[in-house]
Amino acid sequence: MIRIHILGSAAGGGLPQWNCTCPNCAAARTGKITPQTQSSIAISGDSEGFHRWFLINTSPDLNRQIESMPRLQPRRDLPRNSPIAAVLLTNGDIDHALGLLLLREQDIPLVVYAADETRAALGWIEGVLAKFCGIEWRKTAPEFQTLSGSMAFRTIELPRSVAFQFRDDTSGATALFAPSVGELTDELQNTVHKSDAVLFDGTFWSDGELAAIRPGARSARQMNHLPISDGSLDFLHQSPARRKIFTHINNTNPILMPSSRERAQVKQSGIEIARDGLEIVI
Ligand SMILES: [Zn+2]
Ligand SMILES: [Zn+2]
Repeated sequence: MIRIHILGSAAGGGLPQWNCTCPNCAAARTGKITPQTQSSIAISGDSEGFHRWFLINTSPDLNRQIESMPRLQPRRDLPRNSPIAAVLLTNGDIDHALGLLLLREQDIPLVVYAADETRAALGWIEGVLAKFCGIEWRKTAPEFQTLSGSMAFRTIELPRSVAFQFRDDTSGATALFAPSVGELTDELQNTVHKSDAVLFDGTFWSDGELAAIRPGARSARQMNHLPISDGSLDFLHQSPARRKIFTHINNTNPILMPSSRERAQVKQSGIEIARDGLEIVI
């Protein structure tokens, strides 16, 4: 069995974003929709009784996310401890990596799994952490390798990012976490079709969504995110996965608004919309 806890479901900036007055951010400030923190998940396998957790990406909201999830908090019988065993990074984006700095107070080096390109991009964080706990880098690979107990993982390479697939070697259950998908590569499509749960890039509804709010902004595709409306919706609709969930949702995305036609369309396609605290067990 694999347990996934969505710590944060929003893309960079969160919901509301500090300097944004788009309809969703305004609604989040007045309590009309629930605020969401920046994208990260915690994952654990049952061979160790769900006592060791792995963070996939660490957002600037990590401290708040740990305090809202008792399973990630330290045991009370020891002065310093944590059930967080390691971090896996999909890439070096600020909203995915800044949380590493928030884990600096431990005595032993922080174990971080990342592709070589991600590690190279994070030299500045490595330099800061060297004065504290330091980082013990571990390599990632396209073939399954053991992460902990009976849980294995592999990477799927994408443009400027990777996705992670997890597998419970006892039950055979598989889950995919792909928050930054610029292209539906053949390998990614095959992996989606072979996963029981799929957490997928739901950053933008349409390619020009950000430019409509902030003239001159880059398009979704230029930012390495396939839009839902003409990119991932039909594809995921056809996938046989038991759970299909859009996550890493930007605050401008109309699927966040309860009454929107776009939200209805996603739900009619059999796809869920992530929210902070959502737990998936497969
Ligand atoms: Zn991001
Ligand atoms: Zn906004």
